[in-house]
Amino acid sequence: MNTIIAANWKMNKTREEAKESVSELFRLIAGADLPETRRVFVFTPFTCIADAAEAAKANPKLLIGGQDVYPADHGAFTGEISPAMLRDAGARWVLAGHSERRHIIGENDDFVAEKTAFALQNGLSVMLCIGETLQEREDGQLKDVLLRQLTVVANNLKSKNLVGSLPQTFAVAYEPVWAIGTGKVAGEAEVLDAHAAVRSILEDLLGPVGKQLPILYGGSVKPANAASLLKLDNVDGLLVGGASLEAKTFMQIVAAQ
Ligand code: PEP
Repeated sequence: MNTIIAANWKMNKTREEAKESVSELFRLIAGADLPETRRVFVFTPFTCIADAAEAAKANPKLLIGGQDVYPADHGAFTGEISPAMLRDAGARWVLAGHSERRHIIGENDDFVAEKTAFALQNGLSVMLCIGETLQEREDGQLKDVLLRQLTVVANNLKSKNLVGSLPQTFAVAYEPVWAIGTGKVAGEAEVLDAHAAVRSILEDLLGPVGKQLPILYGGSVKPANAASLLKLDNVDGLLVGGASLEAKTFMQIVAAQ
């Protein structure tokens, strides 16, 4: 399985800044001795996708993605973006259900499941973000939340016969909401426990395909904690917000082993 190190730039960077960052990352990756299976994704704002994709295009291990997608081809959906528009700009991947979209914008499980299936049906690969709030964790609901979030998506994918292609086109990012942008990283035992739960839920819901899907950890990943996180069972990559904005810092995470 590939190890995916993904940058989520959120609402940061102009086109020029994006071009510079991706070009620098490109140079750093080209000069580094990375493990063969390492892949680097950068989820940029919509306005930066085309420039970032142009800057990344000669390196098949460096892929650009969008941060969200709407489940329709076109139409009266002001402010939204379709899979075809994302692909046209150069995106290959897209995030679905990032906690900031769930908790700030108000997206629910059904809508996240709908956009996940629609993006996959329309030629994008999807990184599905899941994770519990602090309140849910304190109430002992971690596994119920993970099961609920994954079940809605898996049922939707099964009903549309999309399961067979998932190993090449789908990844899950476990991101405890209380660890995102807070500087609080989940402890090793917490990451191991949550990732084992995600793996077992994926296997229950999707059968053997569930074993083959990368599960990334996200939440205050930094150069100092990246290597130890990557060594944990069922941690197949990292999704990085704040520490991905500066190419040199992000590269230390990309190269961690
Ligand atoms: C994220 O945005 O997915 C994230 C994990 O952010 P940060 O690394 O800043 O916690």
